[in-house]
Amino acid sequence: MTQKQADLDKIKDQILADNVTPELASSATQLVFGSGNPDAQIVIIGEAPGKKEDLIGQPFVGSAGKFLDDMLDSIDFNRRDIYITNIVKYRPLKNRDPSQTEKDAFWPYLESQLEVIQPKLIITLGRHSLNCFLPDLIISKVHGQLQKFNQRFLLPLYHPAAAMYNGSLRQTLIEDFRQIPSILSNIK
Ligand code: URA
Repeated sequence: MTQKQADLDKIKDQILADNVTPELASSATQLVFGSGNPDAQIVIIGEAPGKKEDLIGQPFVGSAGKFLDDMLDSIDFNRRDIYITNIVKYRPLKNRDPSQTEKDAFWPYLESQLEVIQPKLIITLGRHSLNCFLPDLIISKVHGQLQKFNQRFLLPLYHPAAAMYNGSLRQTLIEDFRQIPSILSNIK
């Protein structure tokens, strides 16, 4: 096991030891910490696990994940090239939006994950994820436009679950996705 993977495992254990969001933890099947390559240049951050993610224990394994995989494939990337996680790491019941308290509770652990992985580019999916980093930005205005967060680069994209069944959002997300390779190569 690499040092980075060992450090990520420690963060996961810490979430369990700290009993973060005990209510969510008690209704969820398990913690969905994150998966992928700890050496990835890109970390993709969604909102919270859904039903399938809760059952399997991995982020983005349901229909939104399938759409995400198709878009990764279209730019010759796959899950082994990236690391994926969520802001909130337990499934909110009935897929309700995570509350501010829940997002705040998981934030320090997300920061630790990013500290370990040191990605060149953070990609946020949807407004919840974007607004945890940059609260004043509006996803419909800034999607596909590279932002700066502290010393890091961040690309806000629409959430695949929101875009999947909406023709124009879907096309916008696919087009924003196509820019990822050139955005990545322009980051020094
Ligand atoms: N939606 C998310 O935001 N995250 C997942 O892991 C799955 C669906």
